Amino acid sequence: MRFQDFAQTCGQLEKTSGRLDMIAIISQVLPGLTDEELPVFVRFVMGRIFADWSSRKLGIGPNLLYEAVGYVAGVKKEQVIDKINATGDVGTAVEELLELKSQTTFFHEDLELVQVYNELIAIADTEGKKSQREKGLLVRRLLANALPIEGRYLARIMLEELRIGVGEGSVREAVAKAFGVDSSLVEHAQQALNDMGEVARLAKTGAAALEDVKITLFHPVRMMLAQAGSIAGMIEEHGEIAAEFKYDGSRFQFHKKGNWARLYSRRLEDVTAALPDVIGQLMGATDHDVILDGEVIAIKDGRPMPFQSVLRRFRRRHDVAEAQEKIEMVPNVFDILYLDGETLIDLPFSERRKKLESVMKMSIAPQTVSSSQEIIEKTYNDALAAGHEGIMIKVPSSPYTPGQRGKNWIKIKPEVDTLDLAVIGAEWGEGKRAHVFGSFLVACQNQGKLLPLSRVATGFSDEQLAEVYDLLKDTVERKAGKEVTFEPTLVFEVGYAELQASVNYEAGFALRFPRFIRIRDDKDIADIETIESIRARYQRQVNTAQAYEKN
Ligand code: ATP
Repeated sequence: MRFQDFAQTCGQLEKTSGRLDMIAIISQVLPGLTDEELPVFVRFVMGRIFADWSSRKLGIGPNLLYEAVGYVAGVKKEQVIDKINATGDVGTAVEELLELKSQTTFFHEDLELVQVYNELIAIADTEGKKSQREKGLLVRRLLANALPIEGRYLARIMLEELRIGVGEGSVREAVAKAFGVDSSLVEHAQQALNDMGEVARLAKTGAAALEDVKITLFHPVRMMLAQAGSIAGMIEEHGEIAAEFKYDGSRFQFHKKGNWARLYSRRLEDVTAALPDVIGQLMGATDHDVILDGEVIAIKDGRPMPFQSVLRRFRRRHDVAEAQEKIEMVPNVFDILYLDGETLIDLPFSERRKKLESVMKMSIAPQTVSSSQEIIEKTYNDALAAGHEGIMIKVPSSPYTPGQRGKNWIKIKPEVDTLDLAVIGAEWGEGKRAHVFGSFLVACQNQGKLLPLSRVATGFSDEQLAEVYDLLKDTVERKAGKEVTFEPTLVFEVGYAELQASVNYEAGFALRFPRFIRIRDDKDIADIETIESIRARYQRQVNTAQAYEKN
């Protein structure tokens, strides 16, 4: 497939709004692709470059791209930025700028889809001191060969903002339709392989290949997540349930083969180097090849510490903090997904737990299995008394469903209303806080677009403000008087007393008594609160108020 044909397909998809129409367009393209093209097409059309399990990163920021576009089009970087601001979209801007170039070049060699992918791999794999310069040269070369329409989608893919409205669900349906396989099989294979590209390649060979998929060691799978719910509701629905402490730490997935091991974070980043202690403990904990799921917590004087702050402190001055404060990193293992070549995610949780118990030499997360509300409530109270967040209730008969926030894991914790919001701007502080940011503008999202929702100025200690300043200072985009705006990278958890309808912020709501709770660096900007969920919360609040008035 030529890259221009891929770009044309993107153009067609961008103009299509109906999901079924999109699925039809994609499913018509898939059967005509070679084995090599199929995975690339599937990832690209979802705006991804590499497999989801892969920690490979392109490493191209907006600046580098704008510079390369400017070079190829024969204009200054500032003009590229002006064009983007004028058109409101980097793709359109690049397309228009490359039209300038195409008026002066006569020779064009067709770019192939797979060739573009290989060039992107080369860009990603450029490392070392001069890597930014080398990446820049490779991007220039790629753009110099691109037609304007190709530039439009290439630029968006490189910045990870393709935004043609094609989600994983649509691609799943399109793969199923194209190759005549059941979409639940495609979904299951995607959960195990964590790469829709590879899944599509298997689907092409038929249903049997999809049924046979196995988890691969060192290809992390997405984490299973939890919903809110109640103890009584779970007992009513399932009878016997399993309750574990809900640890306030950092999620991990541990992969081990022989004496080689890696640790992945909730975002599936390889964090092996950051937690040598934990790796050591887990390595010694079993003689088998395994994938384990768990939560690492920081313990000081026998009590759990707020974990994110510990981790950041560790990163800054590792041994000093450890020696001075005697903080212990404790992994709590609660699930097993793979054992000696066997994929376990389809086994019931109670079976997985048995396997886990049989292969581990270290103690694993304690569990209370019962159908008595009283007993589970006692576990909940014990959890809070011991300084944990609450409990997790798990259905003993349930499979492990990677990436899903289903009804088989339910979290029970004390009610506090908080929102995870992106930090998009700030104002400098005053007095002794004049050298750091003092108040922050935070935003929710509407389909990827950020909508300002509130200012947050309370709840910070001086130490936290210094830390936040450190994390934000290199992401400043614009400065105007006391105000700055940021390239959104950081997520705050913000507590509030009430949601109010408001015209002061673009989101249409404002927070009463917003208060900083903590930094959520286990969350991406894509994971922040959506405007729909805020509307739903607002509606619940209105309903509760009305019910209260009636009584
Ligand atoms: P949210 O994602 O809604 O902000 P959260 O970060 O607590 O909340 P949830 O999906 O609600 O995520 O809860 C699951 C998380 O709880 C896991 O990702 C894990 O980090 C943590 N956790 C702590 N203890 C356990 C446990 N025993 N079993 C499973 N997850 C646990």
